[in-house]
Amino acid sequence: MAAPTGPIWVVAETNADGTLAKSSTEVATLARTLAEAAGSSAAGIVVAADPTAAAKELAGYVARVVAVAVPDVTGHTWAQAAAQQAAAILASGSVGAVLTGAGPDGRDVAGTLSALLERPVLVNATAVAWDGGPSVEMSVFGGKLITSSTFVDGEWGIVTVRPNVVTAEAAGSAGVVETRDADQGAGLPVVKVMERIEEAAAALPIEEARIIVAGGRGVGGEDGFALVREIAAELGGAVGATRAAVDSGWIPYAQQIGQTGKIVKPQLYLALGISGAIQHKVGMQTAGTIIGVNRDPDAPIAEFADLVIVGDLFEVGKALLAELRSRR
Ligand SMILES: Cc1cc2nc3c(=O)[nH]c(=O)nc-3n(C[C@H](O)[C@H](O)[C@H](O)COP(=O)(O)OP(=O)(O)OC[C@H]3O[C@@H](n4cnc5c(N)ncnc54)[C@H](O)[C@@H]3O)c2cc1C
Repeated sequence: MAAPTGPIWVVAETNADGTLAKSSTEVATLARTLAEAAGSSAAGIVVAADPTAAAKELAGYVARVVAVAVPDVTGHTWAQAAAQQAAAILASGSVGAVLTGAGPDGRDVAGTLSALLERPVLVNATAVAWDGGPSVEMSVFGGKLITSSTFVDGEWGIVTVRPNVVTAEAAGSAGVVETRDADQGAGLPVVKVMERIEEAAAALPIEEARIIVAGGRGVGGEDGFALVREIAAELGGAVGATRAAVDSGWIPYAQQIGQTGKIVKPQLYLALGISGAIQHKVGMQTAGTIIGVNRDPDAPIAEFADLVIVGDLFEVGKALLAELRSRR
């Protein structure tokens, strides 16, 4: 198979404070691994109003970083600007593959880049290996099938990578950062951001959390989530929920996990008062260890959890909290 040659590029995302997004440190680590297998190099692109901090951080992961300052990006959606700048950089040299995160911004970047450069996209990768090109594992049909896909011979394409599928690891030595003037060429229609509303959500985004404590209908109400939050805080994790809990107005939609919510892959998933319906399962089944607390020993979660504690979640939860606090 003819292999695409050239660097494995990462289009990096930044946090509101200008630092590098955690998902981008993971994607950059993956780019380095793929580059090693391909015998090429890993490189990154940072587009931001001030890309300095994130570009420096990204250089801790890949050999070369191109930083582009786009001062008015804060007033507009970031993805179009990032894709426009990335397209200009990618069009001027050889490319092995392009990776982005599979979050909302990463997906937008991938779609816009695909349109600008007429390249294929593989989305929501749960694993990527190099086999003459990226070989991309994806979970489809609500998690019932895992597929493995590659781009057509010799073509390079864009891959969006789910959070937490790679553990971020800095490179042994720092790469170089070069700055580049913003490209004015593509003239993409820009989307102006009219207003930003901070959604009330857990301090830690659930997609990035290594530990998730989730509550379902069994939690019984908004007050019941106080215990879920306390346990999550004690474990340094994030709070998740089922649609039943979200639809009841006990917790914001941002915390919903499942088919119509978020897909997560923490190391530990503690499910309190959650039956384990298929639409919830597809959002969390790839968690490292799944522990359910349910008073029904025959709840569906018992079929796929590593451990189910049969009992009242408030009794078990309070005992767990006391034990965790005693170990501080
Ligand atoms: C198209 C579609 C999309 C959907 N998308 C999603 C989605 O994205 N995410 C999602 O979660 N759901 C989704 N659903 C809904 C899904 O089918 C289930 O209804 C939902 O997941 C059930 O949530 P639950 O486990 O909290 O509630 P239930 O199924 O009612 O389970 C509550 C559990 O709590 C246990 N329990 C009750 N009290 C206690 C107690 N005191 N101590 C211990 N255990 C207790 C019960 O034994 C029970 O097992 C979707 C449904 C459809 C049709």
